[in-house]
Amino acid sequence: MAAVLVTGASQGIGACIAKRLAKDGFDVAINHYPSESDREKALAVAEECRAFGVRAEIFSADVSKFAECEDMVKTVKETFGSIDALVNNAGITRDNLMARMKEEDYDAVIAVNQKSVYNMMKFVCPVMMKQKHGSIVNVSSVAGLYGNPGQVNYSASKAAIIGMTKTVAKEYGRKNITCNAVAPGFIHTPMTDVLSEDLKAKMLDAVALRRYGEPEEIASVVSFLVSEDASYVTGQVIEISGGLSM
Ligand code: NAD
Repeated sequence: MAAVLVTGASQGIGACIAKRLAKDGFDVAINHYPSESDREKALAVAEECRAFGVRAEIFSADVSKFAECEDMVKTVKETFGSIDALVNNAGITRDNLMARMKEEDYDAVIAVNQKSVYNMMKFVCPVMMKQKHGSIVNVSSVAGLYGNPGQVNYSASKAAIIGMTKTVAKEYGRKNITCNAVAPGFIHTPMTDVLSEDLKAKMLDAVALRRYGEPEEIASVVSFLVSEDASYVTGQVIEISGGLSM
C-alpha cells in the first residue's frame, strides 16, 4: 500500500489531509510537534485514519530541526517500507507589523515554515528517487502570493516555499517525482480562529465566494495532487481561496 507522510498533522488542515488520504487508501505517517498535547491529538487523528482500514502511525519531530527530520524520515521508511507522498503542512504565525517585528519572531517563522520544507525534502527525495516515483505537496499561502500586512515573516516563508516547489519540480522531474504547492486563503482552523471578528469580516469582503474555506477543501486538492490523476502536474501553485484574486 502507498504511504504518505504529513507534517504538523495533529490538528487543523494537516489532520484533515491525513484523514482524507487515509480515506483515499494511503497508509499515513502523522508527524506531530514533540509536545504531550500534540501527541494526544495525533493519536486521535491516527485512530480516525485507521477507521478507513489503513495503517496510521504517529511520529514526533520538530520539523524545523534538520536532525529530527532525518531520524523521522528514516523511521517512517522503516515502518512503512516506502514514502510515496510527502505533504509539508506544518506552519506557525508570529504576526506583527514590519516596524514591530522582532528578530526572534522572524527567525522562528522562517525556521518552521520554510527551513522545515528543505529539511523534509532533503531526506524524502532520496527515498523517492530509489522508488522511482513520488509526489510532494507543499502548503504555501495566499500571503506568499500577494503579501499581507502584519505577516512579513509569514509571507516571506510562504513565498519561499513556492520557489522551492518549482526548483524541486525541475530538479526531480526526470526522476518521476512531482512537486506542487497549494496556497490556501482564509480557512477555518485554530490558526484563524484567534483573529478578531472585525478582521475576519474585512477579509471576507475580498473573497468572491464570501465565506471561509474548510480544511476539507484543502485536503481534496491535496488528494488530487498526490493521485495518479495529477501525474502530469508539477511545479504548480494551486490557489484555494474562494476567489481572493482573479
Ligand atoms: P494549525 O495551527 O491548526 O496547525 C499547524 C500544525 O503545525 C499544528 O499541528 C502544529 O502543531 C504543527 N507544527 C507547528 N510547528 C511545528 C513544528 N516545528 N514541527 C512539527 N509540527 C509543527 O494551522 P493550520 O491552519 O491547520 O495550518 C496548516 C498549514 O496551512 C500551515 O502551513 C499554514 O501556514 C497553512 N495555511 C493556513 C491557512 C488558514 O487560513 N488556516 C491559510 C493559508 C495557509
